[in-house]
Amino acid sequence: MAPGHMIPTIDIAREFARRGIKSTIITTPLNASQFSQTIERDRKNGLEISISIIKFPYQESGLPEGCENLSSTTTPEMSLNFLKAMDLLQEPVEKLIRENHPDCIIAGAYFWWATDLALKFNIPRLVFYGTGFFPMCIYNSLRENKPFEKIGSDSEEFVVPGMPDVITLSRRQIPDQLKEEDKDPLAETLRKVLASDLASYGMIVNTFYELEPAYVRHYREVLGRKAWHIGPVSLFNKSNEDKAHRGKQISSYYHDCLSWLDSKKPNSVVYVCFGSMAFLQTPQLREIAKGLESSNQQFIWVVKEKTKDETNMDWLFDDFDNKMRGKGLIIKNWAPQVQILEHEAIGGFVTHCGWNSLLEGVAAGLPMVTWPLSAEQFFNEKLVTEILKTGIAVGAKEWSKRTDDRAAIKGENIEKAVVKLMAAEEGEEMRNRARKLGDMAKRAVEEGGSSDTDLKALLEEIRRHHS
Ligand code: UDP
Repeated sequence: MAPGHMIPTIDIAREFARRGIKSTIITTPLNASQFSQTIERDRKNGLEISISIIKFPYQESGLPEGCENLSSTTTPEMSLNFLKAMDLLQEPVEKLIRENHPDCIIAGAYFWWATDLALKFNIPRLVFYGTGFFPMCIYNSLRENKPFEKIGSDSEEFVVPGMPDVITLSRRQIPDQLKEEDKDPLAETLRKVLASDLASYGMIVNTFYELEPAYVRHYREVLGRKAWHIGPVSLFNKSNEDKAHRGKQISSYYHDCLSWLDSKKPNSVVYVCFGSMAFLQTPQLREIAKGLESSNQQFIWVVKEKTKDETNMDWLFDDFDNKMRGKGLIIKNWAPQVQILEHEAIGGFVTHCGWNSLLEGVAAGLPMVTWPLSAEQFFNEKLVTEILKTGIAVGAKEWSKRTDDRAAIKGENIEKAVVKLMAAEEGEEMRNRARKLGDMAKRAVEEGGSSDTDLKALLEEIRRHHS
């Protein structure tokens, strides 16, 4: 129940419906309001797709009214209560399953109870983590081998054991849940998630084979897990309307940013966005503003209206915006990311390396500046900078919880990375590699492509399961 999971899940449900599978999306009222118009449009176009709404358990979970999405939580306590709320959805979901007799359940990994529920009704449960094979292989190795326990300091690098490539990380770059296991408040939930995942029918993954072939094979053949790659799912959105409304119902204001881009030369604008969850503090925002200005590059920068430290943002939304007029565009809160990335004026992407953003950048054929913050983003950075070689690291070194304070990356480092990213000659090889990957991504979801073929195989297997 976070945008980075819900957005691709809805893409998948809609694609299933396009392929003739009756799809029902189960969600809560406020979440439904973000995409109900899109589903209504699908229905008018004859697709068998609908939304089943269940109540959000505010009182029982101790969350305030209006907090129905993990992105609305602002403290670690709220995030834990949110997990409690997700557990409480089991009962109403069970009721829906009893009434509707589905043939298969696809549930986000954190709905750990979904595997048992599916078993009860003798139907397959597919897990969706929202991330790729590469980070899942790293997670698996770190969990099993704990190489971070054998080193002296937090900054010392160690090799992740058993990977198809030599991948090094430091303790500072890996999530607390791995390092602190039992002490971490998420530990119990994560154990349940893992057990439920292992007992499930298999996993669907938003990726394409050509992006990470060694890791698809490693996951399936070495770790022996059943998994289907069916992405990039963002490419299931073909019309401008679908792309514009993906994730949120947005206002016409956002179309201005596309006409602004229309007035720019190809590959001349850098797009800067940190996904749906990140909280940046004012000192960091000031450094980004400084770095972008001194890079002398044109930019679109998406900034949340609320910072963690809740300071007045006029310096940014008024002063800096005015100063940069024509050269840079600041978008408050939410941008039509896929549409922006696909615009020919965009030449590079500064990203926090959330898996969806990474894949959307790849699908758009773009080189990136990688700036990981939390979750598995430091692993994803390695894929971009060391395996795909389509990105430049800004120099983020420290994993931290979404709501924790973190040291700011300096404006000079941001400037350097952005200039290198956009520089025509220096960036050319990287740009070519990125372009080729983008072509492969598009081919993967076309008829007969690797993802199309895997998706067909999955649907066939589910059909056979019931015959
Ligand atoms: N997104 C968007 N507009 C925004 C911010 C995010 O459309 O202004 C979308 C983005 O395209 C991606 C998702 O939200 O599909 C974010 O997922 P990701 O895995 O990149 O990061 P997370 O938000 O989970 O950290």
